[in-house]
Amino acid sequence: MDNIRVAVSGALGRMGREVCRTVLATEGMELVDAFDSRATGEDIGAVLGTGITGIIVRELTLRSLREFVPQVLVDFTTPLSVMQNIAISLEAEVRPVVGTTGITGVDLERIRELVKKSGIGAFIAPNFALGAVLLMKFAAIAARFFPQVEIIELHHDQKIDAPSGTALKTAEMIVAARLQQPEQREELLKLPGVRGGVQDGVHIHSVRLSGLVAHQEVLFGGQGQTLSLRHDSYDRNSFMPGVVLAIKKAHTLKELVYGLENILDL
Ligand code: NAD
Repeated sequence: MDNIRVAVSGALGRMGREVCRTVLATEGMELVDAFDSRATGEDIGAVLGTGITGIIVRELTLRSLREFVPQVLVDFTTPLSVMQNIAISLEAEVRPVVGTTGITGVDLERIRELVKKSGIGAFIAPNFALGAVLLMKFAAIAARFFPQVEIIELHHDQKIDAPSGTALKTAEMIVAARLQQPEQREELLKLPGVRGGVQDGVHIHSVRLSGLVAHQEVLFGGQGQTLSLRHDSYDRNSFMPGVVLAIKKAHTLKELVYGLENILDL
């Protein structure tokens, strides 16, 4: 079988570099292009220290994306640019595989329309770490038995969006699964925001500290007991098995798939 032709946008970023390194090392796929808005004409192999590849990092445009005919564009850029990159990708008939966070429900509707218009699929996952996806699944099971829940998500201090896409998705899955509404109590809040943000009744607390990568805890409260679920990504390579799987699945997709759980056999 032919190699899957992969391009990466955000190639000079923390996640983008890891994706380029992974694609270069994975059998059955080929890195054919690399894009970054900070590009200054460097070879991606020189950036990664893996040896010259002949792939020069450059700006993502409709024209540049079409040049080397990739089948998939993996995007790890910023919440500010991701919608435009998805639009360019679909217009170029290149399936986007998106890890960039900050995509809202309204954005998803817009992407769904773009996907329909393009006739090709797209894959979006707020978290590519298998452990995080399992945590969401376990949280949805626990939500059937524990109506009280709070989410704490902890990330490195360079993350610009809050709460994390994973926390929002976890809250969404909890709300969809729970059979009983939590009891509402009046609270005396002495500091604005002290109880976190509230998504459909689920409190979400965002912590930003250098030294962290991506972590999430879901705490359930019940009569005389609590249940804590926690996942930690200590290294960005924790996302790579999920990205590789998504590339393999996405290159023939015909619709929008949102969430790694939809392509795992759970
Ligand atoms: P980063 O700041 O290190 O890298 C982002 C890169 O994108 C930068 O090099 C920047 O120059 C580039 N960029 C910005 N706009 C661009 C554009 N229009 N076209 C091309 N390149 C552009 O960030 P990071 O830590 O690599 O994270 C990137 C994104 O991935 C964030 O949204 C983060 O929250 C998300 N993330 C998702 C997962 C997941 O599993 N889904 C995991 C980790 C990080």
